[in-house]
Amino acid sequence: MDLANFKWDLDADGIVTLTWDTPGKPVNLLSSAAVADLAKAVDTIIADKTVKGVVITSAKEGNFCAGADLEELAGAATRAGSNAAATAYGLMTNVHQTLRKLETCGKPVAAAINGTALGGGLEVTLACHYRVMSDDPRGRVGFPEAQVGLIPGAGGTQRLPRMIGAMAALPFILESKRIDAQSAAGMGIVSKLAPAAEVVAAAKAWIKTGPSSTQAWDKKDYRIPGGGPFSSAGAQVFTVGNAMLRAKTLDNYPAQNSIMSCVYEGLLVDIDSGLKIETRYFVKMLLSPTARDMIRTLFQSMQDLGKGARRPIAEAPSNVKRLAVIGAGVMGAGIAYVSAQAGIDVVLIDTTDERANGGKDHAAKLLDKEIERGRSTPDKKAEILARILPSSDYAALKDADLVIEAVFEDRGVKAEATKKAEAVLGTNAIFGSNTSTLPITGLAEASVRPQSFVGIHFFSPVERMMLVELIVGKKTDNRALATAMDYVRKIKKTPIVVNDARGFYTSRCFGTYTLEGLRMIVEGIAPPLVENAGRMAGMPMGPLEVLDSVGVDTALKIARQSRKEVTKEETPDPTEDLMAWLVETSGRLGVKAGEGFYEYDTRGKRVRLWPELFARQKTWRTDDEVKALEERLLTIQALEAARCFEEGVILDPRDADVGAILGWGFAPFTGGPISYIDGMGAAVFVNRCNALAKEHGPRFAPNKLLKDMAAKGDSFYRRFAPKAAA
Ligand code: NAD
Repeated sequence: MDLANFKWDLDADGIVTLTWDTPGKPVNLLSSAAVADLAKAVDTIIADKTVKGVVITSAKEGNFCAGADLEELAGAATRAGSNAAATAYGLMTNVHQTLRKLETCGKPVAAAINGTALGGGLEVTLACHYRVMSDDPRGRVGFPEAQVGLIPGAGGTQRLPRMIGAMAALPFILESKRIDAQSAAGMGIVSKLAPAAEVVAAAKAWIKTGPSSTQAWDKKDYRIPGGGPFSSAGAQVFTVGNAMLRAKTLDNYPAQNSIMSCVYEGLLVDIDSGLKIETRYFVKMLLSPTARDMIRTLFQSMQDLGKGARRPIAEAPSNVKRLAVIGAGVMGAGIAYVSAQAGIDVVLIDTTDERANGGKDHAAKLLDKEIERGRSTPDKKAEILARILPSSDYAALKDADLVIEAVFEDRGVKAEATKKAEAVLGTNAIFGSNTSTLPITGLAEASVRPQSFVGIHFFSPVERMMLVELIVGKKTDNRALATAMDYVRKIKKTPIVVNDARGFYTSRCFGTYTLEGLRMIVEGIAPPLVENAGRMAGMPMGPLEVLDSVGVDTALKIARQSRKEVTKEETPDPTEDLMAWLVETSGRLGVKAGEGFYEYDTRGKRVRLWPELFARQKTWRTDDEVKALEERLLTIQALEAARCFEEGVILDPRDADVGAILGWGFAPFTGGPISYIDGMGAAVFVNRCNALAKEHGPRFAPNKLLKDMAAKGDSFYRRFAPKAAA
């Protein structure tokens, strides 16, 4: 049988093996072409009497299927215009009909899952009667849809709860959990585990036992595991579940609400009606602005940036084999660890051997945790640690292709480290600084090769934060930028490119959030309301919580420095006074001191807001006014991002949106600050800014660029259409 996406192989026992192999892609995708092929295959399976059973597997190593073809889905949502809903509905109904036909074909169907099966891929396996999965610890199953504002649309919300019960299925789908094969077997999502090379044989062996070819939910005596929505247990799942969901998402994520409704409504009816319900919710989500913006930023743009979309095209590829990290503190140790993990040899320099060794110990501790979680082995640990060479002798960095300086945030200390390194480095080496606040152009003055000097700004904790902000100084050349970018891609993080300016892009925009929170406190707004407004706006932490974790003393230092160097005001502003009161009068430096805007227990867990803060409280607010606080907190950040465009700090909307969500957790459901502005339209945003400026002062005044865009009906994604770096 001739299929583009599957290979058909009928063996002597009458078992057809359909081997999925999406042409020209490293992983399989559930596209409409793959579904059409599957439909053709199922028709033949039904018609051909010699076929006794079916095994579906994949030709891609370690990957069964990465999920639906999101490009195709997003295209269907935007291209079809007024027919978008009908087109999407038709597309998904076709998937359902094909998978229904497969599971009711009258012959046993087994999935031989040779590795990761996500989203649509997992849904195909759920429509099989049996699932054998490779026991390789790297394989994962999960539904990532909700992470981009979608819901599983190929039966996942209907088959999984019918298989394992709503209580187990709901958190799995709602939280986009990705679990390994062992856990999947434990939850009953897969039926059996086998070594990767034996999954097909195990699936065939099952077929040869003459098993039932009817899904549990198609049998007459079927009962939903744990009970349906109207059982006493079921009622609990949905009432408590709804409350828990609301507490987590604060109603910012329509997809999660749809998943809840879909499972609830679907379990009240038969599977075919349930699948129709799922399709309706799916289409509604697919066409929602939330999904549009989340897919663009968290899938398309992130993928583009990860592939090096912003890399200078003309530069030859580089391959950093030997990295030198100067400064083995919190950041340097983390950078050494992630680099060694990516196979790079690392020299880790600090002022004493003890400190340098301490950095390597940090890597060892992180690896121990990975081993505990089953994600690494003692052999792997030894291999990774062997790549890190700690030293107090700068001569050791002699052969490095790239240096990353992560010493104290002090111009003098950084200048000295730069000079000492360049004294031994080869002339081709690139020098990167991990500074979080000091402009790169100024730091490069200490270098004899400022063209090879670039900002490589990591976020803390390095091993968890996926973003790296690359900063181009006045003299930084394309070779330095390309090398830094190739390195960031090698350690599997996402690079954004920004031009040099105080606070670069991320710290500058994020700073407006905490400052606005402080202003609200100064205005006398109840502190819990300020914190809740931040979280309800979609930020991961309230502004005061952020300040405590950064260190109120650090924030105060930055505020004073910027007053001295930027506004040049003599008198501190009331927000600075507020921080000084905490730090200097009350000794409350934040989490590290066990007290700050919050009180903490001995394990550093937040207990409550510092009661004395309430003495400043003048007003409580109504719900509508809280909504206004939320908008104010998002607007000030988005406006700063718009200013970064006007000043040429940032050039590409993808950098702006991805950088904001990955870097400081800007409300992900918006798709980022630029999508937030584009989503409501520049004119609406400008009106909002004007109203806020009238009430709160000129910091909210819209800039020229925004006013021009509002007048022309322009958007950022049109005006600054994504482009590669020059
Ligand atoms: P840290 O204090 O934990 O570590 C700095 C290390 O540098 C110390 O071990 C110190 O002994 C070493 N050091 C000082 N002078 C040196 C020299 N001349 N040669 C070699 N080693 C020297 O600081 P950190 O938090 O790791 O920050 C390092 C840099 O990273 C700073 O520029 C900081 O602004 C930046 N940064 C920090 C964070 C963060 O969240 N901590 C985030 C992004 C960037």
